[in-house]
Amino acid sequence: MNRLRIIEALYRHPLSSRGDLARHTQLSRATVSTLVEEMVRAGLVEEGTGPGSSGAGIEGGLGRPPVLLSLVSGAAFALGLDFGHTHIRVALCDLSGEPVVDDYSLAEVDHAPSESLDLAQRLVHDALDTAGVASDRLLGVGMGLAAPINKATGNLEANGILPGWHGIRPAAEMEARLGIPVALDNDANLGALGEKAFGAARGVDDLVYIRLSAGIGAGIIIAGQPYQGHVGVAGEIGHVLSDPHGPICRCGNRGCLETIASPVAVAALLQRSLRQPITVPRLLELVAEGDRGARRAVADAGEAVGQALSTVVNILNPELVVVGGDLAQAGDILLSPIAAAIERHSVAPAAAAVRVTAGTLGPRAEVLGAAALILAKSPRALVARLGT
Ligand SMILES: [Zn+2]
Repeated sequence: MNRLRIIEALYRHPLSSRGDLARHTQLSRATVSTLVEEMVRAGLVEEGTGPGSSGAGIEGGLGRPPVLLSLVSGAAFALGLDFGHTHIRVALCDLSGEPVVDDYSLAEVDHAPSESLDLAQRLVHDALDTAGVASDRLLGVGMGLAAPINKATGNLEANGILPGWHGIRPAAEMEARLGIPVALDNDANLGALGEKAFGAARGVDDLVYIRLSAGIGAGIIIAGQPYQGHVGVAGEIGHVLSDPHGPICRCGNRGCLETIASPVAVAALLQRSLRQPITVPRLLELVAEGDRGARRAVADAGEAVGQALSTVVNILNPELVVVGGDLAQAGDILLSPIAAAIERHSVAPAAAAVRVTAGTLGPRAEVLGAAALILAKSPRALVARLGT
């Protein structure tokens, strides 16, 4: 337990002196020193002097900087895997969260689960080879999929959402291929974790991440902890009612937000008026070129998204809404109507308290969140390793 307290303190406060650690952990200086020596010998903690920490004045004396301690970032690694509809992305991160390998491959994920899982296995082995990391230094694999995941059963709620994956237990399949523990989560939940750990939501404890890609989903973090709901399917904002007279959705309901505001739905609107096939990248080009119709379509989608979010803002009172996914590349054309609709439809104090911003990690939010899922558990995993 004392080892765990020290590792957790070093994880949260890199470059801490022994005095800092004693304060963070409430352990005696003697205990801290003994355990730190043990961890230095085990190659888990390293000494180095850095710019003054909070303990500099107490410990260092005149002109003598304190010895600062950090976890050895290459002592262990976490791996993230993100299965999109048309790609698989992999990121290998060291203990500091720095991605040492970041790679992706195009794949027909939706209809080909076994082939996709095989491809992911190859990507993982390639990433470890490229970085020269032995698989026994891997703490675990975090894996994201674009479907709600039932936490109670480990099954995908894939009917209509991820055709071809129904009845497949992805974490168990991936574990069998890799021989390494795999933690599975929904892509929007992982995007929220990624932006909190490394991106736009650093230091924010109450946030909603909304992902506008082929589908629309939200990841919720409350009081610093991911909120997943009773069986793990919280955040399905793509399937709230947006237009009672709208089209039938792939989930079987009518007029879901996704049928109005997903990038594919917006591109389809333009297709009708421009009388030519419009892909999502082409839609974003048209927006960047200032095309009036494209900008109007994206702005209207933003208003619908903001209206759906206003209910979330009323209920959760978040500090930050982070917008990610393909459509976020439209920038203020999308973000301003989202913010305006929240302002108009939420209660005043909740609207005044929330900021709306684009994610900073782009298409890497989910894969880095998948690695962050493992890194968050790394202090316990590292202590378990010290014991062996
Ligand atoms: Zn729906």
